[in-house]
Amino acid sequence: MKIISIVGARPNFMKVAPIHRAFLTSSVKIDSKIIHTGQHFDKKMSQVFFNDLQLPQPDYFLGIGQGSSTELTARIMLDLELIFKEEKPDLVVVVGDVTSTFASALVANRMGIKLAHVEAGLRSFDRDMPEEINRMLTDQISDFLFVTEDSGVRNLLNENIDSNKIHLVGNCMIDSLVHYNDYTHSTDALEQYQLEPQDYIIMTMHRPSNVDYEKGLTDILQIIESLGHFNKIIFPVHPRTEKKLIELNLLDDFKKQNIVLTEPLAYLEFIKLMRFSSCILTDSGGVQEESTYLGIPCVTYRKSTERPVTVELGTNVLIEDLDVLKTVTVVKEILNGNGKKGQIPALWDGNAAIRIRDILIQEMV
Ligand code: UDP
Repeated sequence: MKIISIVGARPNFMKVAPIHRAFLTSSVKIDSKIIHTGQHFDKKMSQVFFNDLQLPQPDYFLGIGQGSSTELTARIMLDLELIFKEEKPDLVVVVGDVTSTFASALVANRMGIKLAHVEAGLRSFDRDMPEEINRMLTDQISDFLFVTEDSGVRNLLNENIDSNKIHLVGNCMIDSLVHYNDYTHSTDALEQYQLEPQDYIIMTMHRPSNVDYEKGLTDILQIIESLGHFNKIIFPVHPRTEKKLIELNLLDDFKKQNIVLTEPLAYLEFIKLMRFSSCILTDSGGVQEESTYLGIPCVTYRKSTERPVTVELGTNVLIEDLDVLKTVTVVKEILNGNGKKGQIPALWDGNAAIRIRDILIQEMV
């Protein structure tokens, strides 16, 4: 069986790594290939993850690079059609919700190749998020829908997806966290950034709705300024956010705070810093899940989350509109030891990729 997995952007690498590993260790021979679209291409957002996750270099690198989402989609589709014609895979695996996910899914569908979507069914019910559209459209054309949490199964059934295609398997991003948590001793990130365990906050912000306009960035600045009185903050800055901070001349104001501003961190550094932090502030999708697994209180700046189990069962709290006062109240409680304790959701045990592999073998061989 030949399976091609697609990666494109940072949150894809840690999901495909365990899947590729599971394919390689299968008792049924699987020819597992990886295509990198190049949606994220700079070293800090791409190559470092291949190193940290021990992923082999991709079999194909499309080098799609920068452009509007429409341009990226069109270029990915044209290139992939040629590769799929040549390689004739039995199955294409796409993960998550980025532009590469839907573009690749559509090519597989048009060419009559079976398609698996890993992390299917997640819904924020906010159609202003490009990711929500990518998720919904990919799910509609997938043959295998691998789901991380109960809400995903319900959402797919509500969208009239055939229940035989839906498989609740757990979370491949957590597979990576479980696997690589043991490797983090190789990084000295705490010493490097002069951080004391449980005595700093880690922040990531990159959603267009928070960082693409001045008010969002000045609100983030105010949050940092208010919290800086209680705790040091480390903020690895996403390229999208950095570009806007420079454009709007705000970078110096950020640098004046009780803060360590860094480039995007490598995976092992980042998960180590999450593990030892007092609290996580984010608008990321995956970080909400990782903080729930690690039991670290997390504040997510969104009006809704496509990962509701992190709020219902985990350590996550949503705050809308980058509300400074609410943030200070919630974070003070966390620093006083009264943050959400949370539980780890069912099947988030490090074995999701193995389940995915076994289902594929059972249904395809
Ligand atoms: N991450 C990382 N370095 C960073 C920030 C995040 O390795 O500086 C990892 C994080 O642990 C998670 C993934 O990147 O596994 C999440 O990616 P991102 O927040 O970019 O995407 P989203 O999940 O929001 O789509």
